[in-house]
Amino acid sequence: YARTNLFSYYYFNDNINKLHDKKLSILNELPAAIENNQFHLYFHPKIELKTGLISSAEVLIRWVHPVEGIISPDLFMPYMEETNLINTFTNWLIKTSLEIQEGWERDGFFMKLALNTPIACLKNKSIINTLKNYDKSLKGLEFEILERNLIEDFEEISSVMRCLKKYGITFALDDYGTGFSAISYLRNLPFDKLKIDQMFIKNMNIDSKDYNIVKSSIALGKSMELKIIAEGVENIETFNLLKKLNCDYAQGYFSTKPLKSKKFKTFCIQYNDY
Ligand code: C2E
Ligand code: CA
Ligand code: CA
Ligand code: CA
Repeated sequence: YARTNLFSYYYFNDNINKLHDKKLSILNELPAAIENNQFHLYFHPKIELKTGLISSAEVLIRWVHPVEGIISPDLFMPYMEETNLINTFTNWLIKTSLEIQEGWERDGFFMKLALNTPIACLKNKSIINTLKNYDKSLKGLEFEILERNLIEDFEEISSVMRCLKKYGITFALDDYGTGFSAISYLRNLPFDKLKIDQMFIKNMNIDSKDYNIVKSSIALGKSMELKIIAEGVENIETFNLLKKLNCDYAQGYFSTKPLKSKKFKTFCIQYNDY
């Protein structure tokens, strides 16, 4: 998919105020973007290393703006997280993902979906109410939890997670190794999986520092009985290295770029040779 880059637009447009105004005016359109169906879901497969099969997919959002084209989540997600909008968006994302999953299931296609969820959404008990309203089992849902800020009070988040786990939802700690004290999250919150950030995976086949970081992260995770996901696997060499290191799942462009739901389903059926 083509991606417009707002930053390059700003770069060539040497008026810094204009830059700021434009960015703000686009972000102001975010609340309406949900209602106007401008958010599109893409799916990126995770391959189970033991079986070589696609066992789940990460849901990645794209904002298809009528003028700007496709806008990357890195550009607007931080803004959503600073405002209350992230709760509205995440509720919409849960609903839409479950609808797509149910549609697939009617065709006999089952696929676990992992949704990106900032920890802020778990501080708020309203997510429990949202999820309680679905009468289907939520075993097919995983949350990839991301945190960009320092948190001190784990008590409430931990109790929301424990409650959601009763519905069958699982949790992965996203972007492991970056950001604030990821190890303290592992210590204080009931995660099921650890997702090693692509920063360490990308060059692990040529860089021994990265290789050693990945190796010891896997060992740490395993010692805590967590499943390990590696993200940013771009070549088969890295895939094979991860398999040797006993990593559980690999995700990355080596299989495909993220796909829209229809293409994703076809891709999985071929890949898994159903
Ligand atoms: P993330 O959760 O770390 O997602 C992984 C990002 O790495 C995705 O970028 C994915 O397309 C990309 N990626 C996966 N494999 C490879 C690879 O082999 N090579 C390279 N170079 N990249 C790879 P994307 O889709 O641009 O998403 C960026 C970030 O935006 C995500 O990082 C996540 O933090 C956030 N995001 C995306 N969708 C959502 C959403 O629905 N909700 C929230 N809250 N955040 C989201
Ligand atoms: Ca993620
Ligand atoms: Ca990441
Ligand atoms: Ca990220």
